[in-house]
Amino acid sequence: MRRLSSSSLKMYRRCPQQWKLKYVDRLPEAPKPFFNLGTAVHAALEAFYRGRVAGPPPLDEVLAAFREAFDPEAYPTEEETERRRADGLAMTRAFYEKHAAGFRPALAVEKHLFFEVEGVAFTGYVDRIDKLGEARIGIVDYKTGGSFDLDRVRTEPQLTLYQLGTEQKFGMDVGRLALYHVPSQTPFEVERHGEEQVERVRGMVREAARGIEAGAFEPKPGHHCRWCDFRPFCPAFADEYPENWLQEPSPPAPTHAEAAALADRYGELKAREKELSRELAEVRERLEAFFEATGERAASGAGYRVKASRKEEWRIGDDEALRELLEPLGLWERVLTTRVDWRRKAALAEDAELPEEVREACRELASRKVTWRLTPGEVEGEGDSEE
Ligand code: SF4
Repeated sequence: MRRLSSSSLKMYRRCPQQWKLKYVDRLPEAPKPFFNLGTAVHAALEAFYRGRVAGPPPLDEVLAAFREAFDPEAYPTEEETERRRADGLAMTRAFYEKHAAGFRPALAVEKHLFFEVEGVAFTGYVDRIDKLGEARIGIVDYKTGGSFDLDRVRTEPQLTLYQLGTEQKFGMDVGRLALYHVPSQTPFEVERHGEEQVERVRGMVREAARGIEAGAFEPKPGHHCRWCDFRPFCPAFADEYPENWLQEPSPPAPTHAEAAALADRYGELKAREKELSRELAEVRERLEAFFEATGERAASGAGYRVKASRKEEWRIGDDEALRELLEPLGLWERVLTTRVDWRRKAALAEDAELPEEVREACRELASRKVTWRLTPGEVEGEGDSEE
């Protein structure tokens, strides 16, 4: 069964047909401009916490993260764009003013989780995970829409799923769950969800999994249909869109003889794919050797020209040695999220805020890793100038 998320579970429970049209038939959805503001505010709050141990970045940096993520094309009029932009900047600034002074580093932000509930694979992004004590964590989900109250926090399946997911992944107890209402800068917090709520959500998962596996995708019309992009393709509204329901029948399934031919063709193509990948790897290796040896960044043949770009980074493999080096200096947390992060480790080797001897010691633990990006393009003929 496909991996679920809290929002796809919610969709299946609201309308199984809508779930099918989105996840099985993969019908495209209309752009949702109202999500744009929330996305940009989330990006700003992520910038506020990400990689920060000593304190938050300057306000300008956080506002810049908002501006970068804000899409001015998302709104129908310039007036609305400006109003939304001003709302988002005001929310971001208010968050900064409230939290910068007593800044507490986050254990992780925008944490991508993969976990299982009742044998069903789940995925989700947790906006923020805070460390509450030795082995306890707090989960925070930002909300930028309308108001709500504590009852929602007590019964929100998304929070229950994140509680199960983080505990499963990190072996730490969740001590606090919060929905943070950004427009009013109000955290709505409860202690961990108890057994009754956990069992309620487990039941929802079991029921949805059974329905999906059995192909139960009946439409459930209701007020939510007003916002459903799939209405023209929904059997419950077939009368309104007859043109979509008088289509050519789909071609019949292949016969046994056709399937035998398809099996042969598939096998041949897979074998060729294997052979081609092997050859591609060899050719790539030879080209990289050429670029490395000559310092050149393009090679042209009769039909193709391959451009190359080179990236070289530090990679520190020995986490234990690094921990021994950094912990006494109070710097170990700099490379931690909820696990040791290789990008943060790599950045240590050139981090200007660290004493040179620490940088040097990090470099001694590291090796240089070279990655190439090769981009072929067809040769366009005479007069095609070098870049
Ligand atoms: S239009 Fe209504 S009933 Fe049909 S798929 Fe959408 S939400 Fe479900």
